[in-house]
Amino acid sequence: DKKRLYSPSYVKEIIDKYNFRFSKSLGQNFLIDGNIVRKICEEGEISKEDDILEIGPGIGTLTEELSYKANKVVAVELDKSLFPILDETLAGCNNVEIVPGDILKIDLSKLFSEKFESENIKIVANLPYYITTPIIGRLLEEELDIDSILVMVQSEVAERMKASPGTKDYGSLSVFVQYYTDPEIVLLVPKTAFMPRPNVDSAVIKLKIRKEKIELKDRETFFKVVKAAFSQRRKTILNSLSSGLKTDKATIRAILEKADIDPKLRAENLTIEDFSKISAILPPFNI
Ligand code: SAM
Repeated sequence: DKKRLYSPSYVKEIIDKYNFRFSKSLGQNFLIDGNIVRKICEEGEISKEDDILEIGPGIGTLTEELSYKANKVVAVELDKSLFPILDETLAGCNNVEIVPGDILKIDLSKLFSEKFESENIKIVANLPYYITTPIIGRLLEEELDIDSILVMVQSEVAERMKASPGTKDYGSLSVFVQYYTDPEIVLLVPKTAFMPRPNVDSAVIKLKIRKEKIELKDRETFFKVVKAAFSQRRKTILNSLSSGLKTDKATIRAILEKADIDPKLRAENLTIEDFSKISAILPPFNI
C-alpha cells in the first residue's frame, strides 16, 4: 500500500528527511487530514474530464488526491526548497506537472493553452492566506476560461465573500466576488487539520464562475463606485459617494434619485444591481 501524504507521521518523516523549514511568510500550513483532502475533491466534483490548476502544492498532499481524480494537474509553487520533496512524494503521479513560479506573476492564459487540452479547467488551492485577495482578484479579473475556483481561505474571508446585503460582512469583497461568481461555502476546516496549526479557522469556498453577469456600462466605474461607497461604510451612501468620488453632494443626490435609491441608505444596504444603476448614470471617472 502506498503511504498517503496526509498522514501526519509521513509529513513529519518527509520534513525531517529534507530538513524542511516551514515559511510563515509564504503561508505554509500543510494539510494533514485525509478526510478534508478527500472532501475538497468531492466538493469540487473533480472528474477525469477536468484539468486542474493547483496553487501552492506544498509537499503535494492535495495534489496527490487531485492526480487520482482529475485528467491532469498543473501545480504552481514558489518555494524552491519544495521541488526535491515533490519529486519524491509525487513520484507515481504521471499526470502532475510542477511549474516553478509566483501565481501572481505567471502568465495564466499562456500556461493554460500550453498545458491543458480539456474544456473544463478548475482551480483548486489551499491558498497562502497572506495573498488570498490579490490571488482571487487576479483570477477573476482576468476572466480566464474556467469553470470554478475551489479555495481554502480563512473562514472570516469566506464569510465576507458570500455575504448578502444588510449583513455586517457585506462589503466590496462580497460585491467583487459575487459579480464574477456564485459563491458557496462547502466545508469548514478546523485548525487541527494543518501542520503547523494556523491561528484561524478555515473554510473551503466554491466560486462557480457566472456565465451571465450583471450588465455594467463600464466595469471600472462600477468598481470605483463600490470602493467609494464602502470606504466609509458608517456614512450614508450620499456622503460616502460624495467624498469617495470627490463629487459635490448635489450631483450625487441627483444621480441617486435617478437610480431610485434613497440617499440615506448605507453602502451595506445596496445590491449589486443598485451599484450597477449608479455607475451607469455616472460619467466614467479619471480618479
Ligand atoms: N497545498 C498544500 C497543502 O494543502 O498541504 C500547501 C498549502 S500552503 C497553505 C500554501 C502553499 O502555497 C505553500 O506551499 C507555499 O509555498 C505556496 N505559495 C506561497 N506563495 C505562493 C505564490 N506567490 N505562488 C505560488 N505558490 C505560493
